[in-house]
Amino acid sequence: MTIHLTINGKPFEAEPGQTILEVARQHDLDIPTLCYHKDLSPTGNCRMCMVEVKGGRFLQAACVTPVWEGMDIQTHSSKVVHDRKMTLEMMLANHPQDCITCDASGECELQDLAYEYQARAPEWGSKGTRYPVNSDPNPFIRVDMNRCILCRRCVLACGEIQVRDVWGIANRGIEEQIVAGAGTTMMEARCESCGQCVAYCPTGALSNKMSYGVARAHQVQRVTTTCSYCGVGCQFDLLVKKGKVIGVASSPDAPVNGMALCVKGRYGYDYVHHPERLKKPMVREYLIKKGMKKKVGGPGWEWVETDWETALNLAAGKLRETMDKFGAESVGVLTSAKCTNEENYLMNKLARQVIGTNNIDHCARL
Ligand code: SF4
Ligand code: SF4
Ligand code: SF4
Repeated sequence: MTIHLTINGKPFEAEPGQTILEVARQHDLDIPTLCYHKDLSPTGNCRMCMVEVKGGRFLQAACVTPVWEGMDIQTHSSKVVHDRKMTLEMMLANHPQDCITCDASGECELQDLAYEYQARAPEWGSKGTRYPVNSDPNPFIRVDMNRCILCRRCVLACGEIQVRDVWGIANRGIEEQIVAGAGTTMMEARCESCGQCVAYCPTGALSNKMSYGVARAHQVQRVTTTCSYCGVGCQFDLLVKKGKVIGVASSPDAPVNGMALCVKGRYGYDYVHHPERLKKPMVREYLIKKGMKKKVGGPGWEWVETDWETALNLAAGKLRETMDKFGAESVGVLTSAKCTNEENYLMNKLARQVIGTNNIDHCARL
């Protein structure tokens, strides 16, 4: 059954069960949101998506209101715009006015809407900070609940996507706040530092410690790439400033993982520019010192840099030596799920075409 409705005077068709917001976004009609995210269950708590429905006594939250036959909706009537501006002012009343030093500035959804609706913090708003800044010892996630707008996206992202239920809501009314566990640290509340809550937070309440204060959104170039830590093949964006990787951000259209990443993919990027990163092949050489007993792997064996030809010849020679020693007629290759698909493909080529064996397998089958 098709539902016929009108939005801003124009006729549209919709499927039963679709919300006003879904129909509007399907047709590129603007309805602002803060708590809503297409990956998460709608909660209707931020009140930014309020619209006017003809015949209704109150404004309706578009993200949780299903459409019905003959519905007549106004998304930007003067009443709606006034209500949204007032909602924003309420949020800003309890919000520090420090966009100038906030890491989220430039990609903050609250900042964008405050600008669009020309909303300012009212004179009677709270002054100063209500909560400790950088309040959690998590090594990757910076928590500043002064910037929280209680949208609950972090609660849903952690509960519905990561299924860790670290974040929850404590107290009610003006005292309402987001807490980890029952007021513990994130780690004590079973956080695994995946950073999903940071990725979904629309403000600077949750941000990344490793890249905090390093770059503004407009100063970084986003380079979409594939994670090299395992064979799942998650995609993300490397944040690059002046040729240096300074962070990782979710790439919302990533086909395998969407916004989700694990701790390695999201925060394991500091090896890229690490001074101790291996850039040349190394072999262990026995550097004879007087009185030292020669024992493989024991004292006297040092890692030294070499060229690829030497390293590969050495590895091939050792393989041949070992096969001869045990009288082996063939050789087997075992690869790993911790390698990328591309690396596993190359091992398959190496085994079959270079070494000449079909004895190749993968640890995931064990
Ligand atoms: S969270 Fe957004 S609105 Fe708040 S200070 Fe940071 S940039 Fe400004
Ligand atoms: S980092 Fe991941 S596990 Fe930890 S609170 Fe955020 S979403 Fe939950
Ligand atoms: S911490 Fe961020 S995501 Fe969580 S409720 Fe506050 S503003 Fe929303």
